[in-house]
Amino acid sequence: MEERVYNFSAGPSQMPLEVLEKARDEFLCYLGAGCSVMEMSHRSASFDEIIDGAEETLRKIMRIPEDYAVLFMQGGATTQFSMVPMNLAAQGDTFAYIQTGQFATKAKEEGDRWGNAVFAGSSKDANYSYIPETADIPPGAKFLHITGNNTIYGTSFPELPAHGDVPLVADWSSAILGRWIEVKDYDLIYAGAQKNMGPAGLAVVIMKKKLLERDVDPVVPIMLRYKVAADNRSMYNTPPTFSIYMAKLMFEWVQGKGGVEAMEKTNREKAAMLYDFIDSSEIYTNPVRKKDRSIMNVTFTLPTEEDTKGFIALCKERGIINIKGHRSVGGCRASIYNGMPMEGVKKLIDTMKEFELRR
Ligand SMILES: *Cc1c(COP(=O)(O)O)cnc(C)c1O
Repeated sequence: MEERVYNFSAGPSQMPLEVLEKARDEFLCYLGAGCSVMEMSHRSASFDEIIDGAEETLRKIMRIPEDYAVLFMQGGATTQFSMVPMNLAAQGDTFAYIQTGQFATKAKEEGDRWGNAVFAGSSKDANYSYIPETADIPPGAKFLHITGNNTIYGTSFPELPAHGDVPLVADWSSAILGRWIEVKDYDLIYAGAQKNMGPAGLAVVIMKKKLLERDVDPVVPIMLRYKVAADNRSMYNTPPTFSIYMAKLMFEWVQGKGGVEAMEKTNREKAAMLYDFIDSSEIYTNPVRKKDRSIMNVTFTLPTEEDTKGFIALCKERGIINIKGHRSVGGCRASIYNGMPMEGVKKLIDTMKEFELRR
């Protein structure tokens, strides 16, 4: 393919052209370093500036309080499924999850290996088409884990569940920087980078520094300890330097566009336009309870399997890719993160209209 298309993938997802262009311009020779970011030492002054700059900009755009640590971790969001219980609880302890989809289920599966992981709520009975309103947290639970935005099912927590004094942990992989997240409402937030923050493999963790004081079980591998990451400025070993650099460019782009609040405003407009069209159409249906709809991942189905195939084929002709739903749910899904401009969503709606008319 010679031309860039509109990529509605759930992740890795479309990035803003300005960010890619800046990376291209600095690719061979990063600002006075005489080499590419990929070739530079992670102990160099240039990389210090990059990682410090990334953290500083992220702190600004999310208004992260001083008593929270920001960590750049490896292994994607999935590694956090195991790091959270291993660092926040002792073996055999009880902790809780709200089951709102596949990622929440996978998170609990890792919890099962460490302690008494329980579901404090679930919408599995309705194929995850809504968010449970309350959490039934067992006494003594060490944390409650939620998946803030459910990438596969297109749902999002409209408000946080009541959790008393139980620490709240959230996987915000698919909505971080796409909507406002009030950091102080959480004890720990994590997110894989490939939806709204850059290349896959990197994960960002934002956690109360107080949690770092906890004595972690000696069996926990050194690389999987938050304190080790925090004490070594996320550089206990060689960090994913290029990914951190790309994340920095993404943070600066968000900042330059008016911050997370401005992102959220545009994202809400994009999502409203798409949902309004779906709701008014004769052939497209969104199965999610309205108040729980995600503004980042918009799922929709067509009447038959043949329609779905035909629509996906038309999209391809129109320069729209990765519109197919997750393999576990079928149908279609449009992921409309920060990197997807309004024109992309308009083009999608035009294509949906075209298919409806010619059907
Ligand atoms: C994509 C995603 C993950 C998995 O991220 P990896 O980087 O592939 O480990 C986890 N949780 C949510 C909510 C996601 O959207």
